[in-house]
Amino acid sequence: MITKIIPEEKVMHAKHLMNNAENIVIVSHKSPDGDAVGSAMAMYHFLFSIDKNVSVVLPDRFPDFLSWMQCSEEVVFYNENKARADELFAAADLIFALDFNTLPRIGDMAEAVDEAKADKILLDHHPQPGHFAQLIISHPEISSTSEIVFRLITRMGHFPDINIPCAEAIYTGMMTDTGAFTYNSDSPEIYVIISRLLNIGIEKDRIYNNVYNNHSADRFRLMGFALSERMRVYPEHRAALITLTMEEKKRFNYKKGDAEGFVNIPLSIKGIVFSAFFREEEDKIRISLRSQNDSGFPTNKVCQTYYNGGGHLNASGGELKMSMEEAIAHFENTVLAEYESELKS
Ligand code: 5GP
Ligand code: MN
Repeated sequence: MITKIIPEEKVMHAKHLMNNAENIVIVSHKSPDGDAVGSAMAMYHFLFSIDKNVSVVLPDRFPDFLSWMQCSEEVVFYNENKARADELFAAADLIFALDFNTLPRIGDMAEAVDEAKADKILLDHHPQPGHFAQLIISHPEISSTSEIVFRLITRMGHFPDINIPCAEAIYTGMMTDTGAFTYNSDSPEIYVIISRLLNIGIEKDRIYNNVYNNHSADRFRLMGFALSERMRVYPEHRAALITLTMEEKKRFNYKKGDAEGFVNIPLSIKGIVFSAFFREEEDKIRISLRSQNDSGFPTNKVCQTYYNGGGHLNASGGELKMSMEEAIAHFENTVLAEYESELKS
């Protein structure tokens, strides 16, 4: 059985806005991940199947390992084709905002979305949703936005309109936001939904291969370097930190997505509950933080306090404007020191 998590009046409201819209644009967050692209493409295929004019606009490109998704070549990237994106926003009757809680998460696109006259529906699972949408369907207790998309489509009575590409996209987001069902994945209903998707005709093993066994040799050489040369372990704090500078990324022909998942690796070390990954970009250091599911360690609080970011309890991100040396020193002397009592075993 699948319980009715989304309140009935919100389902009806979404259905009303959708029925009254002809042109619909779907947006999601910067550096789109499997759940951002999965939920967006799922909604795209569903809306296309019920004869809407539908487009997906993302702030920037997604990694190559998501490009097998059907129609992903139709996605408009705001940083590459702003004119086309602005045209779509201007003509939109309805905008679906997926997998982000507040407008800064969509970067330079925020103003255009905020100012668009279209109605907006936010579907998301991050805590503390913003107030830029008429309808907010926010469920932090659900492990992926793609699962919320499945639930909304189904509750609107449109289960028969979920075709295979839509089902594949839903599965992709559910899989990637749970580390292939290794965390945030204890809810039995996840597997009821997967069973429905399998009945529709998805091949889940093929999807796993497309996403996780589709990398370059350079990625693994970079991973080897990062783990052997750039991983600091702080056993007394049950923490670890991996760093990569621009120069180091370049040495391994770094491409978007090549460092995906690195931040999770130290959590496989016995005793480590908190992992950080710092990677240098042109003008800042991107930060990813993870904590063990059952540790209760609030990575989102750390990101809000120190890294101008946020996220979920066990997975969050942000950025720092300082050199790598300064960022490492700040992590050791300020962040680990501040949380010493929580991290000590
Ligand atoms: P990742 O480490 O994969 O980049 O991000 C993990 C999670 O942290 C994302 O799913 C998202 O919820 C959150 N996150 C990442 N970067 C940011 C950021 O700059 N600001 C906020 N508010 N959340 C972020
Ligand atoms: Mn997500």
